[in-house]
Amino acid sequence: MSEENSNRSPADAASRRAAAPIVCYEVDQLPWSNLALYQQAREGMNKVDEITVPPRDGATFEVPAGSFFRIVSVEGPQVGDLNLWNAHDLSERFFSGKTRQLHATHVSTGDRLWSTLPGLRPMATITHDTLDWYGWDEDGGGVHDVIGTRCDPYTNYMLKGVDYHHCCHSNLTRALVTGRNLPPGEAELHVHDVMNVFMCTGFTRDTHQYFMKASPVRPGDFIEFFAEIDLLGALSTCPGGDCGSSHSDDSTPCFPLKVEIYKPADGSLNDWTSPGRSGYSGTHGL
Ligand SMILES: [Zn+2]
Repeated sequence: MSEENSNRSPADAASRRAAAPIVCYEVDQLPWSNLALYQQAREGMNKVDEITVPPRDGATFEVPAGSFFRIVSVEGPQVGDLNLWNAHDLSERFFSGKTRQLHATHVSTGDRLWSTLPGLRPMATITHDTLDWYGWDEDGGGVHDVIGTRCDPYTNYMLKGVDYHHCCHSNLTRALVTGRNLPPGEAELHVHDVMNVFMCTGFTRDTHQYFMKASPVRPGDFIEFFAEIDLLGALSTCPGGDCGSSHSDDSTPCFPLKVEIYKPADGSLNDWTSPGRSGYSGTHGL
């Protein structure tokens, strides 16, 4: 709210404000919670592929259901913007808003990345996070947010009046054009709100505005995911680098990020099945 209040508080304002907050979704009993099984499976896994995303650029990667992938910090602190799709149907993609509602503003080990309606199923489960020690800092900041969207050239143009072509939105668009051989106009429409990997963000305490601060990530840190379904991923190395100063320009040092794909040992997931789409009838009362 950037305007001054124009209405006086009612007499019972204090009691209205004192209503107890209720967590919207109780997720303890969510289906397909197999973290113990995944932890066992990751013990014997082997790296089968890796790609390096150059600074201020993007790249796609594919992860078969039942495999793991890691996003790894190399060379220097760098934030990554992650998009995920059902590899066989790009209309089913990562749903940052519902993931935020089901888990929290920032995600870590045990949290899932959920897909858009009408699929609404876990696309990936976070199985390890070397930055889980960070928790919440004194500014209220945390790591790996699902609240920001992605830096984009339209907002940048609106605010600065200049073209910049290496925002995460554009990096992800180019990655899809190359990775899936899509026309640019079509590829852009598949780009969606991201998981901000390694980014340290929160809301200012006084005005509740979205803030970023220098990421605590260092080379060697990684976040690891289990692919619940066949995944197409795209990762952008944000032009903001560690997002400790600016973004949407070339002023900040930027570094590559690596994506590593791991296959678990044969037989380690015999008790696991890939989750299906939501069981809701889809009739909406019609
Ligand atoms: Zn960005």
